[in-house]
Amino acid sequence: MTEFGFIDSIVRLFGNMPTNGFEGIGDDCAVLPIGGGESLVFTADLVVEDIHFLRRAASAYEVGRKSLAVNLSDVAAMGVRPIATILSVALPEDAAEEWAGEFMRGYHSMSEEYGVALIGGDTTRSAGGITINVTAIGRGPSGQIKRRSAGQVGDIIFVGDFLGASGAGLRDILQGHTDTPQAVIHRNPTPQIHEGAWLGARSEVHAMMDISDGIASDLRHILDTSHVGAEVDIDRIPVAAGATLKDAACGGEDYKLLFSVAADHAGQLAEDFLLRFHHPIHPIGRITASASLQWLRNAAPIKLDWKGFTHY
Ligand code: ADP
Ligand code: MG
Repeated sequence: MTEFGFIDSIVRLFGNMPTNGFEGIGDDCAVLPIGGGESLVFTADLVVEDIHFLRRAASAYEVGRKSLAVNLSDVAAMGVRPIATILSVALPEDAAEEWAGEFMRGYHSMSEEYGVALIGGDTTRSAGGITINVTAIGRGPSGQIKRRSAGQVGDIIFVGDFLGASGAGLRDILQGHTDTPQAVIHRNPTPQIHEGAWLGARSEVHAMMDISDGIASDLRHILDTSHVGAEVDIDRIPVAAGATLKDAACGGEDYKLLFSVAADHAGQLAEDFLLRFHHPIHPIGRITASASLQWLRNAAPIKLDWKGFTHY
């Protein structure tokens, strides 16, 4: 079964259960309105040795930062601010002391950078490799929350930064080149935490998510849940230094934002973003009434069998 097939079966199995006030499975985070016009959002991600990192190719400090970063990225993707995390670790004997200490130093440094509290978790021995689970919680005005399902026909589709460096870096690491600039980016992603909350406050931003599997895969989640299609100009996809266009469209783990904006306000939003964050956002296409994702090259349709990245 594929990862998404498994998740679909979970959604079906629990379809008739009470949700207890939560907006459940399917977005970057689950949403719980808590009164006073505010909501909490919740997300969890696993980081597994030899699946998500190689101990010989990533420092414990880097794994600590990245474990948190990937979760904060999902909170930012909802348009709100991360406030707390719950951290669970399963550690084999040979990682219980020095590795664990360095891991926590990294986790702490990123927690401090974004003012995120660590409020609990669990610690256990592992008979196999290292497994890390982080649950992140965010909070913000309910009206500010951005769902994947809110894309509207005519919206301009933006990505929040250059893409593909992480995918190129993973390729370098697997070929034994662990110290290329792209490999360093792969181990040290910079999710758009402040950018997410800022975009959340803008009502012209409709759908938003973070890019963890590449736009070729992730954009389809916005299209499917919004019941729309899209045209994407592949010449406009911002390709990071050292990456290929295919890395930028299909590579995993960039952790940048993907969002759709009402066309009439897109230019102003891009100007305001540049003033605030000193780097541009990049329009790559538009949402259409068709049901499919159409790639364009030089404004002409082109067929590509691009798929996203998967660990599973
Ligand atoms: P993301 O890449 O944003 O972390 P995923 O692709 O991992 O999202 O997951 C898609 C959706 O499925 C999310 O809403 C997530 O919470 C949910 N999900 C994934 N795995 C499980 C699981 N084992 N049980 C319940 N929900 C899950
Ligand atoms: Mg996500």
